[in-house]
Amino acid sequence: MQVEIVTIGDELLLGFTIDTNAAYLARTLAEIGIEIVHRTTVGDDEDRIAAAVRDGIERTGAVITTGGLGPTSDDRTRPAIAKLFGRELVRDDGIVEQIRQRFWRMSSAKMPETNIVQAMVPTGAHVLENRHGTAPSLMLEDEKGRWVIMLPGVPREMRGLTNDTIIPLLRERVGAAPIAIVSRTVRTTGIGESALAERLGDLAKGMDGLPLAFLPGWEGADLRLTSNSLPVDAAVRALDEAAQKLREAVGSFVYGGERDDLAALVLAMCRERSLTIATAESCTGGLLGARVTAIPGSSDVYVGGVVAYDNSVKTKLLGVRDASLSEHGAVSEQVAREMAEGCARALGTRVGMAITGIAGPGGGTAEKPVGTVWIAVAGAGDTRTLGRVYVGDREEIRLRATQASLDQLRRALALL
Ligand code: ATP
Ligand code: MG
Repeated sequence: MQVEIVTIGDELLLGFTIDTNAAYLARTLAEIGIEIVHRTTVGDDEDRIAAAVRDGIERTGAVITTGGLGPTSDDRTRPAIAKLFGRELVRDDGIVEQIRQRFWRMSSAKMPETNIVQAMVPTGAHVLENRHGTAPSLMLEDEKGRWVIMLPGVPREMRGLTNDTIIPLLRERVGAAPIAIVSRTVRTTGIGESALAERLGDLAKGMDGLPLAFLPGWEGADLRLTSNSLPVDAAVRALDEAAQKLREAVGSFVYGGERDDLAALVLAMCRERSLTIATAESCTGGLLGARVTAIPGSSDVYVGGVVAYDNSVKTKLLGVRDASLSEHGAVSEQVAREMAEGCARALGTRVGMAITGIAGPGGGTAEKPVGTVWIAVAGAGDTRTLGRVYVGDREEIRLRATQASLDQLRRALALL
C-alpha cells in the first residue's frame, strides 16, 4: 500500500519545529509494509491544506495528515478537508462530553467553549478515539474508496494514536502476508564515499530489487540496503545475503551494522583481551573520554584521561619532550605518539590513545590547515599513528577525530 503524508503548521515551514511526525509515520508504517511515496508540508491555511490533500488523494488515494486539529483559530484542517470532501461539519455531542470529562479529569477545570470546535465532525466521518489528548482523529473516505486520516500535531498524541488505532486499522486494509519495508545497514569508517563506491563496483547500484543508499556522517559512511517488494522472511534473507556481499567488498573499513557504536564495540574488544585504556586529548577536550564513558560498564576498561590542552600539560603530566614540541609542533605525529605513550604510563594502562589537532576556525597555517589531526594508539602492538586533514566545522572535526582514534584502536586490536 502506498500512502502520502501531509504535515500542517506554519511552525514547520518557518523551521521552528522539525517535522518529526512525518519521520515517525514513515518509519512506523514501513514496518507493516506501507510505503510513503510523497510528503508535503503546508502552513495553517485552508486552501493550501485542501490543495495538498486533494493532490495526494488524486495521486495515491491515501493520505495521512498531522496538525491543525486544535481548538484555536489557526487550526484549519477539519474545515479544509470537510469542504474538500463536500461534507458538512456537525457537532457530535458524544465528543463534547468526552472532551468535557477529559478536562475535568486532567485539570479539574471546565472545558473552555473554544474546544467545542474539536467536536465538529464531517458527516460520514469515522471518529478514531484519542486517549492521548482532546481532539479525536478523523477518517474520511470517498465513494471511490480514497481516504484521508487526520491526526493531531502534538507528537506524543500523534504517536499514541498511530500505535493504538492507525496501525491496526491499516494492517487490516493491507491484508495478510504484507510486503514489508526492511532495511539493513553496514557501517563503515575511515573511507570516503567515492572510494567506497569504487570498491563496491557494480554493487554500488544496489542488488536485485534492493536499492542502496550512501549515508555519510561524522561516524563514517553507512551503507543502507532497503527491501520494499518482498514479504518479511524473504526480505530478511535477501538483505542478509546482500549485506554480506557489501561487507566482503568493503573489507576492513566495515566496523559494524545497524546502530552499532564504535566506542561500544572497541570497549568490548578490550574487555575480551583484558586491556585497559587511558586517553590524552588536546583538540577534542575530553570528547573521546565522554564517548567511551557514555557506554554502560566502561569502567572495567577505561581508567581515565588527561585533557592536555596547553603544552605545559602535555609536558608535565604526559612527559611529552620539549624538543618534540619545538621541533614538530603540538599537532604532529611525534607529539601524538608521546601523548599516547605518556598517558598509558601515567595512568598505568596497557593502551593509551591520543588526539592532537587544529579544530578551527582559527589557528590553521599553510602547512597545517584547520582540520589537521594526529592520532596515536600505543600499547596494542606497536604505537600506531594516523594523520588526517578533516573538512567540516569545529564540532565535526572534533567528532571525526574521536571516531578515527577509536577506529585505530579497533584495527590494532583486530591484529592481536
Ligand atoms: P493542538 O490541539 O495542540 O492545537 P493540533 O493538532 O492543532 O493540536 P498543532 O497545533 O498543529 O496540532 O501542533 C501542536 C504542537 O505539535 C506544536 O507544538 C507543534 O509544533 C507540534 N507539531 C505539529 N506538527 C508537528 C510535526 N509535524 N512534527 C513535530 N511536531 C509537530
Ligand atoms: Mg494547533
